Amino acid sequence: MARPSLHDRVEAARAQRAALGRSRVRRTVARRDGAGCLVLDEGGDGRWLLDFCGNDYLGLSQHFAVVGALQDTASRDGAGGVASHLVCGHHATHDALEGEVADWLGTPRALLFGSGFLANLAVLQALLGDGDACVQDRLNHASLLDAARLSGCRLRRYPHGDAEGAIRQLRSLPEGAAVLATDGVFSMDGDVAPLRQLAIVARAQQALLYVDDAHGVGVLGPDGRGSVAAAKLGVAQVPLQLATLGKALGGYGAVVAGDAVLVAHLAETARPYLYTTALPPALAAASLAAVKLARKDHWRREKLQATIAQFRAGAIQRGLPLLPSDTAIQPLPVGDDRDACAWSEALEARGFMVAAIRPPTVPEGGARLRITLSAAHDPLQVDALLEALERARDQVAGARASHGDAAAAAPLAARA
Ligand SMILES: *Cc1c(COP(=O)(O)O)cnc(C)c1O
Repeated sequence: MARPSLHDRVEAARAQRAALGRSRVRRTVARRDGAGCLVLDEGGDGRWLLDFCGNDYLGLSQHFAVVGALQDTASRDGAGGVASHLVCGHHATHDALEGEVADWLGTPRALLFGSGFLANLAVLQALLGDGDACVQDRLNHASLLDAARLSGCRLRRYPHGDAEGAIRQLRSLPEGAAVLATDGVFSMDGDVAPLRQLAIVARAQQALLYVDDAHGVGVLGPDGRGSVAAAKLGVAQVPLQLATLGKALGGYGAVVAGDAVLVAHLAETARPYLYTTALPPALAAASLAAVKLARKDHWRREKLQATIAQFRAGAIQRGLPLLPSDTAIQPLPVGDDRDACAWSEALEARGFMVAAIRPPTVPEGGARLRITLSAAHDPLQVDALLEALERARDQVAGARASHGDAAAAAPLAARA
């Protein structure tokens, strides 16, 4: 009996991805300055592009107070986290950040994690096991799906944004404890979950509602408290929520905020908390500074909202299709993978970085440009992007018309 060669299998899978226009290629950024990034080509030559696909929604990643806090703490306490929290890695700056986030989100307690991915693994794994259930929106982030699988519970998914579907799934799993988990703002679509309806469903089915607000915190709700606060819900309806620090807050890491008993349980038992090195205190200090700015400076959210309104109005005027989203994530559906790459390349030629998002990150046939807006963008840059999108559309349509399907068969260098 011969085992299949993993190397051969991997090579075949790579060739197939390439044939489908689904190769994944990283772009290398050499420098960032505001919304500008210096992107290197294969020869190592750089070209400045305007970034319209990052998640730095408030432009805080380069704020002098955020960078200064990181520098000061690193020079005092070093670059690393040194050990896990329960050994000797827990630092006063971690405590200060947890306290600040709990106060901001109005929850009794908060716990800092190395990343949002780890935090999601931790929450579902620490709460659920064999015989329990997790019911999730079909478009939830990959980390939530993986988390449910890792916990060993039964996983059921309901149609996107469908609270009725959620209640049906929960009714079909009457035994065991249950978590109803949803993204607050959907990462590839930009729409907001029907949290008030889901809270009613969770209550009726005695399920715990967990909201992953990676793209809502800092951006939505009063004082940027996120989608839970925007829906006028609190810890009574949403006992746990996730705030990530690497998106609107411009840093790295994540915080789970909520009920004191549940959070304490995570701190004592969650494997992705216990068995990993603590976030470097310097990064916690950077996020602490960012949270303080996000709480008090309303102008960044107002500027972002004005930028979103400008972009949507301009796109509608130019007949560019957009998904229905009021958030900083403004996807332009393209459908075909190769067309999405062609749009992305046409935009790059005009000086814009907008990654083409393709399956399996989005459903089959759902390739899109995931355009993201930030308080770091100014109105002239948004106008220039709209102009470039219009040209890119005409260029892609023109290439299709003149080459027919032959154009679609030419392998394109993939983006993202
Ligand atoms: C980005 C993201 C995560 C993961 O957070 P990281 O801190 O980047 O690991 C989790 N959930 C959602 C919805 C996200 O968009």
